Amino acid sequence: MREAVQSIYDGVLDRNPGQPEFHQAVKEVFESIEPALERKPEYLDAAILERVTEPDRQIMFRVPWVDDSGKVQVNRGFRIEFSSALGPYKGGLRFRENVNLSIIKFLGFEQIFKNSLTGLAMGGGKGGSDFDPHGRSDAEVMRFCQSFMTELYRHIGLNTDVPAGDIGVGGREIGYLFGQYKRITNRFDAGVLTGKGLDWGGSLARTEATGFGTVYFADRMLGTKNDSFDGKRVVVSGSGNVAIYAIAKAQELGATVVACSDSSGLVVDEKGIDVALLQSVKEQRRERISTYADERASATFTPAGKGGIWQIKADIALPCATQNELNLDDAKALIANGVQVVAEGANMPCTPEAFHAFQSAGVLYAPGKASNAGGVATSGLEMQQNAARESWTFEKTDAELHAIMDNIHDTCRATAEEYGHPGDYVVGANIAGFTKVADAMLDFGLV
Ligand code: GLU
Repeated sequence: MREAVQSIYDGVLDRNPGQPEFHQAVKEVFESIEPALERKPEYLDAAILERVTEPDRQIMFRVPWVDDSGKVQVNRGFRIEFSSALGPYKGGLRFRENVNLSIIKFLGFEQIFKNSLTGLAMGGGKGGSDFDPHGRSDAEVMRFCQSFMTELYRHIGLNTDVPAGDIGVGGREIGYLFGQYKRITNRFDAGVLTGKGLDWGGSLARTEATGFGTVYFADRMLGTKNDSFDGKRVVVSGSGNVAIYAIAKAQELGATVVACSDSSGLVVDEKGIDVALLQSVKEQRRERISTYADERASATFTPAGKGGIWQIKADIALPCATQNELNLDDAKALIANGVQVVAEGANMPCTPEAFHAFQSAGVLYAPGKASNAGGVATSGLEMQQNAARESWTFEKTDAELHAIMDNIHDTCRATAEEYGHPGDYVVGANIAGFTKVADAMLDFGLV
C-alpha cells in the first residue's frame, strides 16, 4: 500500500480495535483499488476512503427471549447501515454463535461493493445476532425472531434498509420476522424484507439464486478458456442454502460434485451428491451431514479435524461455507491437485494468503463479492416485483439472474484489464464496485 493509503488504513485499525475480519476486508479493498486512486486524486482529496470505512450508522441492541424451559435468554442484535450511496441499505441477517461486531462490519463493508456490482440501486448493510437457531425448537426461533424485530423494525423500511437472510436465517426466520414487522407497524410493506415466502411477496428463484449465480459466474470464467462445467470434478464446501443450489446447478451443467460439508465434518460421494437427499437431511430434518452418508451407499463421512475438504482432488472448488475456511495450506493442496477455477459462494472464505497463491499459480479465482452476488441481486429483483405488485416466472427471474452474473463477470474482467491487471478478478471487482460508490459520494458533496 502506498503511504497515503497506508496511513488511512492505520486510522481504520486505530478506530476499530479487535475487529480482524473487518480489517482484512478493508485491507483487501484498499490494496486492490490503488490504480483507481492514482487515476482519480479526488477520491483521496474528498476523504472517500475514510468515509466509506465508517458506517453511516451502527445499531446494537439487546434481544431478550424465553426458551422452552422458561429460562430467560439474552442475545445481542446488530444492524450496520454501512452505505446508502447507491440505494437503501441492503444485506442479510446472520444468526450464528460466533457473530460479533467485526464479522457484521466485514460483511456490511463487502456488501457495499457487491451490491454496486449488481447494477441495481442498493446500498450496503448487514445485521444479525449471536443467537444460533441450530438445536432450537420452532417456538424458540419464533420468540427470538419476534424479539429481534421488536427492536429492528424502527430502523428498517422499504426505502431505508431492507434485510434478508444469511447463515442461520432462511425462509422460516424471514417468515417470523416479517410477521412481527407487519404486526407492529400494521403495514404490509412487502419490500421491507427479501427472501420471503412465495405466497406473501417472495420471488421465485431467490432461494436458488446465490448458488446458481456462483455457478453461472464460474461457468463464465471457464468460458474465457473455452471450457465448461461439463465432465468436471467439483468440490463444494458447506451444505446450506448456497452450497445446495451450487451443487444442483453444477451437476445440471454436467459436472460431478464429489464432496460437501458442514461444521461437523464432510462427505465424499464419488457418484455425485444426491441433492434431494442432502436437502432432506439438512433442510427438512435439520440433521448433521453424517446422516447423508448413513443413507447413501456410495458416500463416506469424515468428522471435522481429520483431513479437510480441500485435500480432495477437484478441477473446480466452490467454497460455500463461511469466512476464512480455506487457508494457504488448503490452497497449496488444491493447486497440487490441479484445480483450475475457484469461485467463492460464501463471503471471504479464502484467506488473503490462499487467494494470492491461487493467483500466482494461474488459477482463475473469483472473490465472493463478485461471484456470490446472485443472492442479493435476486433480492433486488424481489424488491422490483414488490414495488410493481408483480410475480415473475421462475424462468424470467433466473434469466435475469444469469444475465446479471454474466455482466458482473464481464465488468470485472474489463475493469481489471483497463486498470492494468488483466485476469485479476479481485482488482476488477473492487475497482468496479468502489468507483460507482465513490463517484456517487463525490456527487453528494460532504455527507
Ligand atoms: N446474505 C446474502 C449476501 O451475502 C444476501 C443478502 C440479501 O439478499 O440482501 O449477499
